Amino acid sequence: MGAQRTLPACSKRFLGGRWGEPAQGTYYDNENPAKRETICRVAQASAAEVDAAVRCAQQALEPGSAWAQMTPAARARLLWRVAERIREQVEELAWLESLDTGKPYGEALHGDIPHAAGAFEYYAGWCSKLAGSVLPVSPRYLDYTRLEPVGVVGAIIPWNFPLQMAAIKVAPALAAGNAVLLKPAEQTPLTAFALARIFEELEFPPGVLSVLPGFGETGAAMVAHPGIDKITFTGSTAVGKIIMRGAADTLKRVSLELGGKSPNIVFADADLKRAVRGATTGIYYNQGQMCTAGSRILVQDSLYDKFLEAFTAAIADLRPGDPLDPKTRMGALVSQEQFDRVSHYVALGQEDGATLLAGGQGSADSGYFFPPTIFTDVQPTHRIAQEEIFGPVVSILRFGNEEEALRLANGVSYGLAAGVWTADVGRAHRIAHGLRAGTVWVNTYNALWNEAPFGGYKQSGIGREGGREGIEPYTEVKNICLSL
Ligand code: NAP
Ligand code: MG
Repeated sequence: MGAQRTLPACSKRFLGGRWGEPAQGTYYDNENPAKRETICRVAQASAAEVDAAVRCAQQALEPGSAWAQMTPAARARLLWRVAERIREQVEELAWLESLDTGKPYGEALHGDIPHAAGAFEYYAGWCSKLAGSVLPVSPRYLDYTRLEPVGVVGAIIPWNFPLQMAAIKVAPALAAGNAVLLKPAEQTPLTAFALARIFEELEFPPGVLSVLPGFGETGAAMVAHPGIDKITFTGSTAVGKIIMRGAADTLKRVSLELGGKSPNIVFADADLKRAVRGATTGIYYNQGQMCTAGSRILVQDSLYDKFLEAFTAAIADLRPGDPLDPKTRMGALVSQEQFDRVSHYVALGQEDGATLLAGGQGSADSGYFFPPTIFTDVQPTHRIAQEEIFGPVVSILRFGNEEEALRLANGVSYGLAAGVWTADVGRAHRIAHGLRAGTVWVNTYNALWNEAPFGGYKQSGIGREGGREGIEPYTEVKNICLSL
């Protein structure tokens, strides 16, 4: 894996373009979940620091400032250079991400980090394309629209894909001309610091990006702050609801990317090998800690036994191991809390009467390791079939026909993503149209693109990230009407 790596300045926070110690000197230990060892002590940002960062961001947005005066083309070049730096440091960033989250180094190297760079590249292109329009109202008036920045954006992100989540928020927000306060998840601040280091090296105007590590209180202080115009949040549905309520007081704009309980629907005419491979990575990639995790596999009756046999065989060589070993395909869960949560759901599944077919027993002695786990004989009403587990636990259910498949697939409070496996083109589209989910994959799973909109129906969220739909929420539309 190459040369010795260096940790970023964890004991500081990046505010107003400078690194500083926290005002009240509050720190917490950041853990490597694969070893249960402390990586570094992290400075926790207080409400006072959120306030200071808001003022820096507001200064950065003032009409005469360097950021506000920058041409879209110049802003695009700067964002593109962020992407270049990320790509130059791909190994170091993948190492940091793996160390901090417990995810396999190879996944971070080929997935998270290039994807984060891609977000900056993609949205760099939008800087000069966010055009308003001239509206044909009357020959005696000129009426036109401008897409202006919303202002100060608070970005609150989870621990499962830290740099990728930061990028898919920071890149469009800055492309649209905003300033951003970024709060990484308490468990995984390392790559947010690394991103701040890149912004410092590239000499972005001070206040354009601040990185404020901390706990939920830091996020809550951002939600409450009257100087923040928009909150963009990725995390649990429970916290999403708290944020939406909190944002009401100041009528902030909110974008919410929340949880999921996504179905992978396998029809009898599917290519079995591909379906098994897709369903396996669909649930076990990133140890199942994915909002899009295909945590319910629905299999048509006549294929059920064959599918089950092939799926069980496919996980045989998927054993959790050292995330930093490039050959490892399954790493550690992110924390003790997450380990306990997954163990709790396994116990619930058994209590409710589902059959534990494989896995089920983790070991947290020297790292939070949990094996691929399969439940069968699952009723749609069981909690393991309704609630997000966010771990390597899958429920396999069976169905008879298309109608039943759709009823099962849509019968949860979430609607983030879904997979359909079939050789019948007509059926693929019928099912895709019938699914209440923001993304439908046909004969593939987890194919995520910066170019395409991603987000949730129902309680999986509000708004989209990626594509044109991912930048528009960072703008306000102003209509200007002039009498000729
Ligand atoms: P979480 O507990 O909701 O935390 C997410 C972020 O919110 C963290 O930075 C957290 O800070 C912060 N936070 C906690 N309480 C807050 C409050 N009251 N006000 C403001 N911010 C607060 O979620 P998580 O456990 O980190 O991540 C897992 C969840 O994220 C899953 O439900 C998953 O489905 C969802 N997710 C969704 C997507 C998507 O795109 N739809 C993508 C990835 C993950 P702390 O770190 O200090 O708790
Ligand atoms: Mg950590």
